[in-house]
Amino acid sequence: MALRVDEELCSGCELCVQICPDVFEMDSTGISRIKEGADENLDCVDEAIDSCPSAAIIRE
Ligand code: SF4
Repeated sequence: MALRVDEELCSGCELCVQICPDVFEMDSTGISRIKEGADENLDCVDEAIDSCPSAAIIRE
């Protein structure tokens, strides 16, 4: 399972970073991205996916 943020959908609201700062960070363009080496199985990832107002966090 790969985790990614769809940069077309992400509005840059930063909610995922607030919910799960070990996994998400904002890049220099104001879009969320997955941190290098992050544990994508943390419970807070699921919370971030459910909370993202743009449905931009995708597991595939
Ligand atoms: S919660 Fe969703 S829209 Fe907001 S910054 Fe994170 S990925 Fe982007």
